[in-house]
Amino acid sequence: MNKTILITGSTSGIGLGIAKQFATKGYNIMFHGLESNGQDIANNIGKEYDIKVGFSNANLLQSEAIENLVTETINTFGSLHVLVNNAGIQFVSPIEDFPNQKYENIIAVNMNAVFYASKAAWKQMKKQNFGRIINVSSVHGIRASEFKSAYVTAKHGVIGMTKVMALEGAPFNITCNAICPGYVKTPLVVGQIKDQAKAHQMTEEEVVEKVMLKKQAVKQFVPLEAIANTAILLAKESSTTITGTSFVLDGGWSAQ
Ligand code: NAD
Repeated sequence: MNKTILITGSTSGIGLGIAKQFATKGYNIMFHGLESNGQDIANNIGKEYDIKVGFSNANLLQSEAIENLVTETINTFGSLHVLVNNAGIQFVSPIEDFPNQKYENIIAVNMNAVFYASKAAWKQMKKQNFGRIINVSSVHGIRASEFKSAYVTAKHGVIGMTKVMALEGAPFNITCNAICPGYVKTPLVVGQIKDQAKAHQMTEEEVVEKVMLKKQAVKQFVPLEAIANTAILLAKESSTTITGTSFVLDGGWSAQ
């Protein structure tokens, strides 16, 4: 029987990279995200890799929609082995100007949704005596940058939650770990490069090296494959004792 994976925010960026890697391993995949071509992305990958797929555009700002997303996954595939809490949003502003609604949305999508989705998956994973919860945090789960108060708070919170889930999941072979990337070249970041090039009057190459990757010792974006391969490792049956920890793929940022 093929295993089932639900990846939030898998119709773009990191989530899509993770989905493609699990597709090569024959998983059934529940795709999720707000992209308008999400269903097509899911169908195309389903065809290419001959796997079963589903798609949902559940809004992670609503706890009920998150519960429904997990229930729909279990009803569609009859199982849920791996949950990747990946979806996330960003907003950058000094604290005194940070709009309250932006703050609350970042906490809701980047942190609270991790709790609601994992809670909803828990009963099924317990029943299976198998569960792998993988939370995409960030180097900002262990380090701070100015103007990112909401994001840094949420990503640190996810690491705390990961540890509690690891403790509570241990008797049921449910593991929970976090992945903490540095900068990854997703559509989100590509847009930021262009904006910053204008703002700093630099070339895009200069922005990448001197502004974006300033804190990374390795002056390269973190490849999607590195994150996806880490997720594959964590999802394995044999990874049952790898739990409650964070895998930091930050090009040496936090080594300093
Ligand atoms: P992205 O913008 O490419 O993808 C984000 C996904 O989340 C999209 O599919 C989007 O539709 C979905 N999403 C956002 N808000 C949603 C909502 N309210 N309801 C449902 N879905 C929603 O971003 P990405 O760069 O691939 O980021 C993925 C994760 O990786 C995020 O948690 C992000 O914080 C984290 N991360 C990214 C980087 C980076 O440099 N790109 C670095 C470290 C961590």
